[in-house]
Amino acid sequence: MKFISTRKSLAVGIEDAIMSGTAPDGGLYVPELLPERHIDEFRSADSFHEIAALWLQPFFADSVLEPELAAICSDALNFPIPVTSLEQGDTPLSVLELFHGPTAAFKDVGARFLAATMVRIIESGKSCSASITIIVATSGDTGAAVAAAFHRRPGVRVVVLLPDGRVSPRQQHQRTCWGDNIISLAVSGEFDDCQRLAKEAFADCKLNEAHHLCSANSINVGRLLPQSAYYAAASIRHFRATGEKTSFVIPTGNLGNGLACVWARRMGMPIGDIVFATNANTTIPDYLLNGEWVPRSSVATLASAMDVGDPSNMERLQLLNTDVDQMRQEFSAVTVSDETIKATIADEYQRHEIAWCPHTATGFHAYRMLPESRRRNNHWVVVATAHAAKFDTIVEPLLGTSIAAPAELAELLTWPSQYETISASLDEIASRL
Ligand SMILES: *Cc1c(COP(=O)(O)O)cnc(C)c1O
Repeated sequence: MKFISTRKSLAVGIEDAIMSGTAPDGGLYVPELLPERHIDEFRSADSFHEIAALWLQPFFADSVLEPELAAICSDALNFPIPVTSLEQGDTPLSVLELFHGPTAAFKDVGARFLAATMVRIIESGKSCSASITIIVATSGDTGAAVAAAFHRRPGVRVVVLLPDGRVSPRQQHQRTCWGDNIISLAVSGEFDDCQRLAKEAFADCKLNEAHHLCSANSINVGRLLPQSAYYAAASIRHFRATGEKTSFVIPTGNLGNGLACVWARRMGMPIGDIVFATNANTTIPDYLLNGEWVPRSSVATLASAMDVGDPSNMERLQLLNTDVDQMRQEFSAVTVSDETIKATIADEYQRHEIAWCPHTATGFHAYRMLPESRRRNNHWVVVATAHAAKFDTIVEPLLGTSIAAPAELAELLTWPSQYETISASLDEIASRL
């Protein structure tokens, strides 16, 4: 299979699409076609990583990774991704739990898959170099997930750029506790300074020649594809058991997770409705309402990993739907304020004694707002994107109780934090490579 840029100027193999991240014409890589699949093709597969390997096979056809795909999936997707039933009866509700990876957020899925593919591309000699340096600028969960995924992987070094002291203590810890091949640099400044520095580094020929810089950001198609696999697996399993479709509510920021679900449905999976829940960054709901795509600067909210005012993956969705009426057929979108996020966390805890993270709370609110006619006799699944323990400083005061961290996160919190603080200049980064 070939991958083409959303701006259509060229087609490359999946190895190039993964190693280069974005296309040289500034567009985003997408598969040249979304192959039609039938659930019977997955009859032999039981575990998530087996379903994922079958699901992803057409995308990897004729690449050096094709024979390795089963191994890549069992290496990268080695944690549970369960759908748990929360409410039964004629308005059944379940949760897709994407937070059982090493850093307790769904970004582990894409980051681990990307790492497993990148190291194999390097080993195969199909990359430009036998060793690469990945630079990530991070405000949300990406830095931690990428650091965890590449930690101690051969041939790869990761530089994590984070704004000095502007994140929660636990988030800061998760990005800085690695050591070995992970270099954490706290940049004096804001997230925008980190992002500018990363861009400057990628544009610097000398640095690129010396260190073979790569990006691992969320628009890499190697992160999106495995995300579509959990929508496929969840809907296949439910259809096998009941003959029914599954509808999803997806907490949404840059639209990667949402696009992955749209792709799975387009490829023939038994998926019903798709609802995107956003925070106070309303670019997507405003577009459905007004019919005009108006990107803007992001505003800070409690669901910080969704603070995106110009969702990049819209460019990919626009290839599938050329006008807003088609988009309205594809999905709906609900915006959720910080006040409502707080109220929802408290309310859902009262209902089920489960603490949800602020991102997941947007999904619960969007679900509760659906008219009963849409909920009745329809299998709805809210996508839980992170564990509440990652956002303890927000969630614990609301509930007046402490939230136990999952085992892997608890272990990370015992590792010593190690990072250097630098001023916001490219020379400072260069001198540490
Ligand atoms: C990144 C992230 C999101 C948003 O996902 P997109 O793919 O950017 O839409 C939601 N929740 C959490 C916890 C995240 O880390």
